[in-house]
This record gives sequence, structure tokens and C-alpha cells, in this order.
Amino acid sequence: MIARVLTIAGSDSGGGAGIEADLKTITALGAYGCTAITGLTAQNTLGVQGVHPLPADFVALCIRAVLSDIGVDAIKLGMLTNEPIIRAVATHLPPNVPVVLDPVMISTSGATLLPDDAISALVSELISKATVITPNLPEASKITGLPVATEAQRIAAGRRLLEMGAKAALVKGGHGEGVDLTDLLITAEDVVSITLPRLETRNTHGTGCTMSSAIATGLAQGMRLEEAVRRARAYLQEAIRTAPNLGAGHGPVNHLT
Ligand code: PLP
Repeated sequence: MIARVLTIAGSDSGGGAGIEADLKTITALGAYGCTAITGLTAQNTLGVQGVHPLPADFVALCIRAVLSDIGVDAIKLGMLTNEPIIRAVATHLPPNVPVVLDPVMISTSGATLLPDDAISALVSELISKATVITPNLPEASKITGLPVATEAQRIAAGRRLLEMGAKAALVKGGHGEGVDLTDLLITAEDVVSITLPRLETRNTHGTGCTMSSAIATGLAQGMRLEEAVRRARAYLQEAIRTAPNLGAGHGPVNHLT
């Protein structure tokens, strides 16, 4: 049977990030994608013009509708929009299904996608349910309160996320400096470092969404976490390298393999 991935996240009208990036990624990697949309964004490559949250009980209804009939092999959590939605999602996550938590907070263009008062709910309700949490550097620092300038600090922040309840943390290096960038996969047992050349491009919109949904797809297909992360990173690199030049701002990545 085809692997089933449920993405609980926001919609990007520009098609570059959010649910739209998730479904393209899940499809390109050979799985079946379902959605519970937490909010709509009016958005293009230049930025977010508006956010329209959906009612938390309707998000819960979507999750129940998918779980009660189609079923899921992995879940990706992206933009959760506000605290009531975070609480609704936490109570509806099924046991024994891998969860990839992308703690989306601020867009590349600087728009707030999760208000500060919802971050504590994300920490208390969802981190402990995460098979892996996938923060970028600003998110890792915001959640843990720790600095993330050096590799040792990033590993310490990842270990702090494990203490907060996540089974693994992927601290992504994309927001750092240098000709190469390193993602660190931190588990209780070890630290796996994945280094790739930094691509010179403006087309990075939706990279976090693509990475987390690609990892969820691998887990749904039965891969071990490190294997799922390595395939996701390779997929993302190619998606950035071959991005179409759309819009005047941060363009989307390419999902046509
Ligand atoms: N819009 C939505 C709905 C998202 O979920 C996200 C990120 O996860 C973004 C925008 C931001 O994407 P980016 O930071 O890649 O521009």
C-alpha cells in the first residue's frame, strides 16, 4: 500500500511554502498526502499579505476525518497559526505514528507565522510528541533560549530540545554563514552531521516545509530517521538547485524530479 502522510500546516497562496510545498514534496517522493489546514496565507514570493486562521475545532475535524478513514503512516506539523490550534492538534495526534515537528515561527520575508504567546503551548504540548523537531537556527535559539553561533552551541541547543521531550532534533544550518552549510541530527545516542555546499540563490522560499515533509515521507515509507533525513536533504538540495525563477522575491524550489 502507498505510504500516507498527513500534513497539518498553513496554506501559501503563492504555492511555494506550507501545505502546497508539502503536497508537492510528498507526491514527488512517491507517497500519498492528506491535509489539515490550520490557516490560509495570502502570499507570494515578496511576502505574506495576510493570515486567516481556521477554527481549531475545524482543524480537529479534518484530522479526525483523515484518521478515521484513510489513516496515516507519518504526520508533519508546520505552521500551526495559534494556541487553540496547537492544543487541538496535540489532543488529536494518534499514538505510535511518527511526527515531524517543523516549529514554523517567522517567514523568510519576516512575517510572524506563530505569535510569541503560542510558542509556550508548542513547547508544552507538542515537543514531547515529536519523533524529530526541525528548527532553523533562529527557531532553535528562540525555543531553547540558547545561543547557536557555533557548532558546539547548536549541538547543546539540540540536546536541550531532547530534554524538552523531542526524540531527535535536526538543527538546520541554512541561516548560518559560510560556503558550506551543516545540518546536525542530534539523538540521545549520537550527532550526525550533514554538510553540503551553500547554493547561491534567492529561491529558498519553502525550504523548511520541503525538508520536514520529505522527512515525514521517508518515515512513512519505513525509513530509519537518519536515512529519511539524508534523502530529504538530497531532495532539497536538488530542488533548490533547479528552482524555477518565479516572482521578484524569494522564489519557490522545484519539485519536478
Ligand atoms: N507560509 C507558510 C504557510 C508556511 O508554512 C511557511 C513556512 O513554513 C512559510 C510561509 C515560510 O516559508 P519560508 O520561510 O520558506 O519563506
